[in-house]
Amino acid sequence: MISDWEIQRILDEIERRGSRTVVLQLPEGLKKDAARVAGKLEERGNVTVVVSADPCYGACDLTAFRGDLLVHFGHAPISVPDEDVLFIELSSDLDLLPLLEEVLPKLKKSVAITAAIQYVPSLPTVKGFLEQNGLEVHVGEGDSRVAYPGQILGCNFSAPRAVSENVEQFLYVGEGNFHPLGISLATGKDVLVVDPEMNEIRDMAEFRDRILRQRHAIITDLDSASSFGIVVSSKSGQNRFGLARKMKEDLEKNGKKAVLFLLDNLNPDNLLGLDVDAFVSVACPRIAIDDYALHKKPIITPLELEIVLGERKWEDYAFDEIEGDR
Ligand code: SF4
Repeated sequence: MISDWEIQRILDEIERRGSRTVVLQLPEGLKKDAARVAGKLEERGNVTVVVSADPCYGACDLTAFRGDLLVHFGHAPISVPDEDVLFIELSSDLDLLPLLEEVLPKLKKSVAITAAIQYVPSLPTVKGFLEQNGLEVHVGEGDSRVAYPGQILGCNFSAPRAVSENVEQFLYVGEGNFHPLGISLATGKDVLVVDPEMNEIRDMAEFRDRILRQRHAIITDLDSASSFGIVVSSKSGQNRFGLARKMKEDLEKNGKKAVLFLLDNLNPDNLLGLDVDAFVSVACPRIAIDDYALHKKPIITPLELEIVLGERKWEDYAFDEIEGDR
C-alpha cells in the first residue's frame, strides 16, 4: 500500500524549474489514482497537468511528450539519469515484521535479500532483523540498470548474481512470481518470497519447475518452425536492434526465414495477422514468459532461440536480461 505520493516534493520541483506543463506517467496498477494526483497538483501549483494514458511497465518506457517536466511514478531510473524526469518511486508502507517472523524458521544460515523498487527502502530493516536473529545477510550491487543495491528488475538480476556465490538462499520482498523466478534461474539458488500485498510466503521451487517444463515443450515444438518474426521494441530502454539483427542472421544461416517487426507496445493484438510460425521478442524479457498464454503463436526469448538453433544446450537455459551499460 502506498500512502505518500510525495506531492510536496513534486510541487517544490515544479516551482524550482518554473514548469508550466507537467506530464504524469504511472504504472498500470496506479492509474486509478492519476486523476486525484493531477487534481492536487493543479490545485496547489500553477501548472497544467497532462496524464499519459498509454500503458507503462517500467522506466525503460518514458513518454516522448514531457511538457516542461515529466513525473514518472513507481520506478527508479535505469542506466542514464534524465534531467527532464522526476522519478517518484513510491515505497510501500506495509509492515513486514509479521511475515519476517514467519519466514525466519525457513531460512538457511546465509541469505541474500533482494526487492522490487517499492520495498528497496525496507531492505536495511529486513537485513537488521535477520542479522539480529543470527543470519549472515548479503545485499548485492547490481549494474547500472538498477539504481539501488539489492534492487531487481524483471529484465535485470545483476544484484542477486553479484552475491550468489556467497549465499545458500535468496529472500525476495515483493509481489508476483516473475521477479523471484528470474532470481532463481539467474542464480540456480532457492528463493523464498515475502509478499506483503498477498500477506504470504512462497517457495519458488515448484513454480520454477513448472515454467521450465512449459518452456522446454515450447522450444521442442519449434524444431519444425520455418519462419520467425523478430519483434523489436521502439521504447528507448528496450530497444535491442543489434541483437535482433544478429538473430536474423543466425536464423537465415540455419535456413529459416526471419522478418524484423518494430512495435511500440508488444501485445497479442499487435501480432495478429503477421504471417510467421513463431515470434522472438527482443523487447521486454517479461513478455515471452509472463504473457505467453495470451499469444496465438509461440513467442520465445533470444536465449531460447539459441536452444532452438542448437547453439545453446537446454542444460544451460538462462533468463533473458538487459544489462546496464556500466
Ligand atoms: S524491460 Fe521490462 S522488466 Fe525491464 S524495466 Fe522495462 S518493463 Fe521492466
